[in-house]
Amino acid sequence: QTTKPKKHVAVLPSPGMGHIIPLFELAKRLVVFNHDIHVSFLVINTDEDDSAARDQYLHSHSTHPPGLDVVDIPPVNVSDIVRDDMLILTRICVMVEESLKSLKSVLIKLGKPEALVIDLFCTGAFEICSELSIPVYSFSSPSTAFLTFSLYLPTLDREVEGEFVNLPEPISIPGCSPIRPDDLLDQVRNRKNDQYKWFYLHMSRLPLAAGILVNTWEDFESVPLKAIREHSFFLQLPTPPVYPVGPLIKQDEPSSSSDVECLTWLDNQPADSVLFIALGSGGTLTTGQLLEMAWGLEMSQQKFIWVLRKPDDADASSTFFNVGSDVNDPKSYLPEGFLEKIQGVGLVVKSWATQVAILRHPSTGGFLSHCGWNSTMESITHGVAIIAWPLYAEQKMNAAMLTEELGVAMKPVKGPGETVVRREEISRVVRLLMESEEGEIIRSRVKKLRDSARRAVDNGGSSHNSLSCLVEKWKNEIKP
Ligand code: UDP
Repeated sequence: QTTKPKKHVAVLPSPGMGHIIPLFELAKRLVVFNHDIHVSFLVINTDEDDSAARDQYLHSHSTHPPGLDVVDIPPVNVSDIVRDDMLILTRICVMVEESLKSLKSVLIKLGKPEALVIDLFCTGAFEICSELSIPVYSFSSPSTAFLTFSLYLPTLDREVEGEFVNLPEPISIPGCSPIRPDDLLDQVRNRKNDQYKWFYLHMSRLPLAAGILVNTWEDFESVPLKAIREHSFFLQLPTPPVYPVGPLIKQDEPSSSSDVECLTWLDNQPADSVLFIALGSGGTLTTGQLLEMAWGLEMSQQKFIWVLRKPDDADASSTFFNVGSDVNDPKSYLPEGFLEKIQGVGLVVKSWATQVAILRHPSTGGFLSHCGWNSTMESITHGVAIIAWPLYAEQKMNAAMLTEELGVAMKPVKGPGETVVRREEISRVVRLLMESEEGEIIRSRVKKLRDSARRAVDNGGSSHNSLSCLVEKWKNEIKP
């Protein structure tokens, strides 16, 4: 008896843990979900991104199911091209553009996969794959609300004169919740910056995709999903079919001594009593804000675990490309006496923690988060209420959705004319979330969403079915 050869799918993320994690989780789900699929996960390597967290995550072999291979794209040197004044997306796009010069030969060497899944900033692959007759699918790692904005961008770009952030009214996208100009993502706040040009270029290629996968689920973002299906946003061009396949969540495997210390400490705390503070892979605070955060947490008298990075007064996303590799000693930037004062009440972790294992722990009752989409999905999937602390990219949009539309987050406010959120305000919001009836109501809402997320990915759930549909399509593709 002959066995049918497996269908081969390649997956290509752009640099940064926020892009790598959901695509790697998709790759894992594909091979576990369907044993007739083999996935090559392509990794971009440059001399400008050196992340210990990434290497640990991708190469810890215990997390690789059979049928999934990690394939390094030949490394490129971009230090001559990347300038210090380049914003984060420009850096990502330059790294991707250089690396994709070898994509064609990599795909040929791999025997031309049946399909390639790329993230939003790897659209240079469309042209290469069209030469090889490989269909390309886009994967949107942020929300569907972000995706609708991105699909609508060419229309906005044509219709709006001047900056979007100066518009007097919220931006209305057909069928979607309006977006306040203040909440717009960084990449579109200055249309003269290179970052906008890159963003526009990649989003304008979205209709070239054979389909768009989104890290969300039907019941969670039914409004923008319906809008995409019912309206042709993109200068009247049809939008490719959209597949909500989320939430795609990593399963942390605690390994370092600090992971073990956190989890053992959590084991000894009451249920829902600990606040977890982490700002994604890139996020850090300014010197002044870090000081207020430290004393605000101490003042709240709540238990906490805080992932700490060196403060940066110029760039809130300064560890994006080197997370886990930065040498940082919290003693050198925390206020004097802080570590002594919080003994027994709070734990500080340098640079990177086992976030999902912490969120999954029953003692964790709140998450002060920068509201990156992966962190948002992880918090909701584990039923943890949020304090929204958006910093960069599209996080303000996510924070608005979590606080105003879904009611699963609280947001501290800055006083008039203030550049930082004061310690009293931090303490007030932390106590409100962790101790008050309002906090309990938020926690019960998030637990309902958790159940809905679990149903979506279970056998027969909407995301499960959506992925089955895609896999069936791939299985029927004729090899180019
Ligand atoms: N993360 C983690 N430990 C940390 C900080 C972040 O494991 O100390 C993971 C987190 O679980 C999430 C990802 O890094 O999966 C961050 O992605 P997100 O979209 O939230 O933010 P970004 O890093 O893209 O800003």
